[in-house]
Order: sequence, then C-alpha cells, then structure tokens
Amino acid sequence: MPHAVGELDLIERIRAGWGGGAPSPTPRKPGTARGGIVLGIGDDCAILRPPRGHDLLVTTDFSLEGRHFRRDWHSPESAGHRALARGLSDLAAMGARPLAAFLSLALPPEMLKKKAGRMWLERFFTGLQNLAGQATAPLAGGDTSESPSGLILADIVLVGSAPAGRALRRSGGRSGDALYVSGSLGGAAAELKKVTSRKLRSKASTSTPGAHPQMFPEPRLALGQALLRRRLATSAIDLSDGLSTDLHHLCRESGVGAIVEADALPIHPLAADHHAEAEALDLALNGGEDYELLFSAHASVRIPNRIAGVRVTRIGRLVEERTISLLGRDQLVHPLKPGGWEHFAVKQ
Ligand SMILES: [Mg+2]
Repeated sequence: MPHAVGELDLIERIRAGWGGGAPSPTPRKPGTARGGIVLGIGDDCAILRPPRGHDLLVTTDFSLEGRHFRRDWHSPESAGHRALARGLSDLAAMGARPLAAFLSLALPPEMLKKKAGRMWLERFFTGLQNLAGQATAPLAGGDTSESPSGLILADIVLVGSAPAGRALRRSGGRSGDALYVSGSLGGAAAELKKVTSRKLRSKASTSTPGAHPQMFPEPRLALGQALLRRRLATSAIDLSDGLSTDLHHLCRESGVGAIVEADALPIHPLAADHHAEAEALDLALNGGEDYELLFSAHASVRIPNRIAGVRVTRIGRLVEERTISLLGRDQLVHPLKPGGWEHFAVKQ
C-alpha cells in the first residue's frame, strides 16, 4: 500500500528520535549472549534474540484518545509516557527485562500537515523516548497510518525476556501467603480528579518521581526483576485497573481468596491529603492506573520494606475460602467487589 502523506517522514523521525533517547539501541552482533535486537527498523521484520536460557514475553497495549488519554487533560509528553508505561508495567509484573518495543500510530491528517499537530507529535515522542531511555526499551519497528476517525491511536507491543520457566505469574499464590503492594495507591485517580475538576490540561510535562502518578506513572521494572531474581514472590500482577479488580484477577488464577486490611493500605498523599477518609480509601481500592505491583510471598519469607529502591507494604493475606474481603477501619469484614477503573468516557 502506498505510504500516507508524511508517513515516510514520520518513520524517519521515529527512527532518529527514539534511537537518540534510548541508551543502547545499537543492534548487537549475532551470537552475543546478552541478547537484544539483531536487526531493527528498516527491513521487513525485526530480528530479536533473547539472552541464552531465557523465555520471550510479549505484551500489547492500545492507547486510544478519549479512552486512555485526552488531549485536553494530558500533556503530549504524558500521553507518550503513558502509552509505553502500560506495556512496561506488564513486563515488570512478570519480572521481565525489556528487549524491544514496536509502535504503531494512527494519526489524524492535520497532525502530520499542520505545525501545531507536528508540535504535539514531537512532544509525544519526547515523553515516550524519555521513558524508553530510562527503561532501556529500544524501538525495533512499527507502522503508521492516517486515522480516518480523527482520533489518535497508539498501539505498543513490548517484547521482554526472563530466565526460562521463572517469569512471575498470577497463578502461583497459595492460601496463607502474605500480600504486598509497592509504592502507594490512589494517586493516579486523585491527580486525574484534580485535573478534570479544574477543566485545565495538566501542565506536567516531565516526570519527577512520584509527583504525577496519573501523568507519569513509574513502571516497577527493577522491583519485578528483583522479586524474580531473589525468588521472593509466589505470584504477581500490576495494578492497572485498581487493587480491587486486579486482586480478583490474581485470586482467580491462583484459586484462592484474600483479605485486605484497610488500615494497612499505603494511600498516596494526593488522595489522603485532599479527600475525605472514605473517598481516599475508595481511590486507593478502585482508582486504578497506579501501575504498582501487587504480589504474594510465602508467609515465612522475610520481605524487606524496600526492594530495588521502592517501598513495599504488607496489606493482607491470601485465604483458602475463595472470597475477597476488606477488613475495614471499623474492624468489620466487608466484601471487596471489583470496582476498578473503566478508563475515561469517550469524548463526545
Ligand atoms: Mg497487567
């Protein structure tokens, strides 16, 4: 199919720009044990080689305008960061190391032809590249197209690797295991509330660690890899949809139930300091998009307060009876239903 207007330009831009942002995008010599991209952008396919004795892990995530980001709420840098962060967080949840990223973009025609549109795109790439550089996730291919709907669509495929047979899974939790969460919860939803209530686009265009949990979430790659390497976790999942929903996923796959202690939850200051107690708890349980890791560990395993520089908090335990409950601050046990984030309503 012939290239759309501006498409070749864009491919060159992606190749040059992303390459400049990532610290190690150079193809490695065939036969090297470290693995990586043998052949990147420019041919019909990329050629990847995982490190010797490793499995390949693949995850794919859509970022749809109006569904996962909004141009009137998120800065372009934030939209780029978030598009990549979602896939990196999935790799983190399984203890994997990124090997390569693939980006397919559908863009409204004016984005390629008008100066303001091109500026938005430049800034989108800046956000994406900065995170790709931090996470060492070099771009190895992609596709572009005009979006007939007028909405931006970014599809990112991430390929990672983990020692063969050792990737963390949702299914390894057992009754009696302790349940832990990284970082803090509710911050992403609280920041979004702040932005939408002001009806102003967030000015946040750079990621200061922890300061903008909605705009610049931090995928916990180093933590996931440490959990795998040190054999600390029996199961793990990343918190994309909210603790209440993702805990249900983990419990279903592990064939167990869980009890979470409300008092133990590490609530992000953006939720805890600016909302009534019940609302802050709701944001922490159901807000979603925090991209922290939830994991279980055998009760006899000592889990440090910090792993790979990230705070880790014990929030409850897995139980045999397959129900999921919350021990409230009233010391009563309440059912904990999945109430996770459904992403944004489509902009009319
Ligand atoms: Mg996930």
